[in-house]
Amino acid sequence: MSDEQTNRVIELAERPQGVPTKNTFRFNDIAVPEPKEKEVLLKSIYVSVDPYMRGRMRDVKSYVEPFAVDEPITGGIVAEVLESNNKAFSAGDIVQGQLEWKKYQTVEPKELQQIDPDLAPTSTSLSTLGMTGLTAYFGLLEIGEPEQGETVVVSGAAGAVGSVVAQIAKIKGCRVVGTAGSDEKIDYLENELGVDKAINYKSTDDMMQALAGACPNGVDVYFDNVGGELSDMVLRLINKNARIVLCGQIALYNKNEMPQGPRPQLMLITKSARMEGFIVSDFASKFKIAIKQLATWFNTGEITHRETVTEGFENIPEAFLGLFSGDNIGKQIVKVAEPEN
Ligand code: NDP
Repeated sequence: MSDEQTNRVIELAERPQGVPTKNTFRFNDIAVPEPKEKEVLLKSIYVSVDPYMRGRMRDVKSYVEPFAVDEPITGGIVAEVLESNNKAFSAGDIVQGQLEWKKYQTVEPKELQQIDPDLAPTSTSLSTLGMTGLTAYFGLLEIGEPEQGETVVVSGAAGAVGSVVAQIAKIKGCRVVGTAGSDEKIDYLENELGVDKAINYKSTDDMMQALAGACPNGVDVYFDNVGGELSDMVLRLINKNARIVLCGQIALYNKNEMPQGPRPQLMLITKSARMEGFIVSDFASKFKIAIKQLATWFNTGEITHRETVTEGFENIPEAFLGLFSGDNIGKQIVKVAEPEN
């Protein structure tokens, strides 16, 4: 067997306290498995790293099972079928599914989805045409319900979800204000995505004043990817009938204790406002329609797409950790290998 075909797995070595470190992960060398009856042998091509995985490292009941210590970490992966004992798939097919962080693995392909490489680059099935694009689409359109001329604020605006939210809000004719953590991200938001005003929350001294200045007509929709103090400030600017879309709270994911913030209930009452959380899978029955729309926007250039691509299986943990220090612009993915066919 060539070096290329040496198999490796990444397991959860321990449950992190606070920010995960390299010690959270363990690499093991393992054999390349043989596919049994009805199974396919897969070679990982692109691995998705996502903030929600931090939640799965805690031993708490949630909408997905926690990762088990000493077991492989799982997540969204684009893979190539190398061998197939299942008539639904052939060697050379590119598929996507919730798979283990392994270079090679066998599965019975019940939950694998075939990807059409002619529709868009295959990695987009992990991003704009996949989980993060769908999160942006349903969170904004079904919960945020933006109307033309309204002001939409997006936190984490230069990330995978945020960048798509910002662009859909522009398509809907809104004034869009985004927050992000570097000048490069601010430039990307204002000059590539057409966001009306982007604010660097790390370098701005008075964020409250900056947000108020960027939203002279108040805030109608707040798409919250971040939470924490930033969100407390945006809430002070909401208009009557505002919609607050609770998508993520990444500022809290590495906290051992949940900080007590302002209690928003009174504000929600006085503004007749709605604050609503969601999980993208709530909308699973409508994924096909949404992917079609996202693909149309993608192919007409109405939605542009940026990926931060880290190369190499060994660098998956580092790419994951970078989500919490803001290393990525757009979707963070890891390219593990080239397809063979
Ligand atoms: P991103 O691509 O946005 O990557 C994470 C980004 O978050 C970083 O680049 C960083 O950007 C920012 N960030 C990290 N730590 C902090 C912090 N302490 N305070 C403020 N910003 C921080 O990730 P996704 O687009 O994949 O996910 C965005 C959010 O959406 C996450 O909270 C995620 O959990 C949530 N989500 C929810 C889903 C749902 O179904 N509800 C589905 C998918 C994602 P910066 O430089 O700006 O700090």
